[in-house]
Amino acid sequence: MVQKVLQLKCQCNEYPWGKQGSESLAAQLCAKTPGTDFKIDENKPYSEMWMGTYPELPSYVLETGEDLQKVLDKHSQELIGHGVIRKFKHTMLPYLPKVLSIAKALPLQLHPNKDLAEELHRKDPSQFTDPNHKPEIALALSDFEAFCGFKSLEDIERLMQLEPLKKFLPEVKKPRFDDQTLKHIVREMLKASDETIAETNDALLKLPKEKFGKDTYIPDLIPRLSNQYDKCDNGTVVALVLMNYLQLKAGDSIYIPADGIHAYLSGDIIECMARSDNVLNTGFCPRADRNNVDTFCSVLTFTPHTAEEALLKPKKFERARNGKTKIYAPPLSEFNVLSTEIGDGENEMISAIEGPSILLVTKGSGTLKADGKEHKLSEGYIYFIGQGTEMEFHSDKALQIFTAIVE
Ligand SMILES: [Zn+2]
Repeated sequence: MVQKVLQLKCQCNEYPWGKQGSESLAAQLCAKTPGTDFKIDENKPYSEMWMGTYPELPSYVLETGEDLQKVLDKHSQELIGHGVIRKFKHTMLPYLPKVLSIAKALPLQLHPNKDLAEELHRKDPSQFTDPNHKPEIALALSDFEAFCGFKSLEDIERLMQLEPLKKFLPEVKKPRFDDQTLKHIVREMLKASDETIAETNDALLKLPKEKFGKDTYIPDLIPRLSNQYDKCDNGTVVALVLMNYLQLKAGDSIYIPADGIHAYLSGDIIECMARSDNVLNTGFCPRADRNNVDTFCSVLTFTPHTAEEALLKPKKFERARNGKTKIYAPPLSEFNVLSTEIGDGENEMISAIEGPSILLVTKGSGTLKADGKEHKLSEGYIYFIGQGTEMEFHSDKALQIFTAIVE
């Protein structure tokens, strides 16, 4: 008999934008998994905990130490299920959930669509390690700041009338300010020299605040972003002038489609994405780490085009018996995320999911009854749940659980 519920041991990476030491929720959760040798080093930043089977940072079965993917390969029918295997034509987990703890801006980026990802992977497999696209969602666990998609054309056109920004406009004025005009501006801003960007930021800071209309956060954020990277970083101008600046609360979520421009600025989040690690970076990172601006601009999508469009609203999950579970279901993606919140002494029951799930406890304690056994739930506990397994949660102390699912 194959065990359907496997407690996992996961790992953190140490990108420099991560929160320091035990300030990092990713590290805290990672350190709470029992039976691991992970100890927080206060001198290191911890950026992301990965929960899944992507080879760069795989998860292991806690009890046996086996690589989770090896177990899935051995028992693919029982754990992944034939429906999901048929859909994706492989026995790997089709998604990759992470916990991110962000102290400063992540690179300004997009994740290429499937066609471009295939091409980049073929040409440069060391940098583009898989041929897949990577739609992603970011779900706030605390206050979360992000730049996501573009502002409306009207808002951008208005801001572009500011004297220091006019040089990025097309020389020949078009009859209409449209997405082609915007694309031109993005390219000009990304290709601008260090001096041009520094001068632009200085000149914007000298303008009276009223000039920015409702976007007075722009002069407020210039010094902050310049401190994190450099006042020459092309990302500052693109993010502040052209993109939506979102200040989200715990429970809010955004969806990033393939080719969608985004940069996360601060906070702790659950991120879930298709099984991929492909990214094109163009700002908030050293010039040497940036990808080609023309490639970046050639695939850029103009959705979302307002802050409202970027939000992914959760719905009630109909297959949870006690109504304490919401579902975040991004369009066109390989996964959904369930968020379950159960008060002290309460229960929730989720009927069998016809595909593999990964479950993470972020708050509280209690038990999970599944596959004929009772399992302990506590902060930082992570489980793989095989397909076709009903889950019954009981909370001793208010539980918060996130579960990535696919069917
Ligand atoms: Zn991303």
